[in-house]
Amino acid sequence: MRRLSSKKTIHSYSRKNRPAYTVADGERVVVETMDAFSNQIASSRTTFEDMDMADVNPATGPIAVEGLVAGDVLCVSIEKIKCGSRGCIMCSPGLGLLASEVRRSRTKLVLIRKGKAVLGKDLEIDLNPHVGVIGVSPPEGEFPTFHVGDFGGNLDTVEACQLSKVYLPTFVDGGDVALGDVHAAMGDGEVCGTGVEVSAEVTTRFLRCDDLDLKRPMIETPTHWVSFAAAKTLDEAARLATDDLVRFISHRRGIDFEEAYMIASVAADLRISQVVDPQMAAKMMISKRYL
Ligand code: CA
Repeated sequence: MRRLSSKKTIHSYSRKNRPAYTVADGERVVVETMDAFSNQIASSRTTFEDMDMADVNPATGPIAVEGLVAGDVLCVSIEKIKCGSRGCIMCSPGLGLLASEVRRSRTKLVLIRKGKAVLGKDLEIDLNPHVGVIGVSPPEGEFPTFHVGDFGGNLDTVEACQLSKVYLPTFVDGGDVALGDVHAAMGDGEVCGTGVEVSAEVTTRFLRCDDLDLKRPMIETPTHWVSFAAAKTLDEAARLATDDLVRFISHRRGIDFEEAYMIASVAADLRISQVVDPQMAAKMMISKRYL
């Protein structure tokens, strides 16, 4: 299996980027990713203030998919995520939902061992490895990889995990997808501003998808369909994610908007993806049993 090295990365999404790799439609590859801090954190004495934001969230790629043309939907099938053996968590007065409450920056180095993240002598938490950053070249503009928008980017959504498929609208031929920022663990919201940030090897297939029509990213897990939207406010992100999922239900079941809206209200969950990036992100998920 071909390995796509993390030596080739981008720090912003732009249609001006040239592809670093080209893969065949459906080809299985291992994408190597650096952690969100470019693997620079060697000690807990290094804090968020020491980071150069230009080095944050390196995304391996861009990866062009043969035969994919602008306007197609790209499916990124995440088959396996192998996390590095050590991660880090940071909090800082400049970071997260409670930034103004934080008196001093902290960096916690975290061992990843036997499916757990070791947070302390008496606390090991379960892993839920997922790809934090995954996006394609946007139609216009240049967006740092800590940004999230309709082209994807910093999704920070726990459902972008093993055995999930992330669907993205594309805007350039080949799609030019780039991914990185794997979290070994994160809770919905990512409230302090980081997950357990790790380097990783992501076994992935990139496929052209014919049967979805998307304005924004969408995720399919083995059990659920998940809409996703980012906006300036959480209210607006929630409204967009809800609208997308209601229209998806309507299309899948061949029913009108009102019927789908009522089904969403009683059977789907509206949740927060993250509240700490330049744009807020919400998601809405429904079990495949109801579609
Ligand atoms: Ca992130």
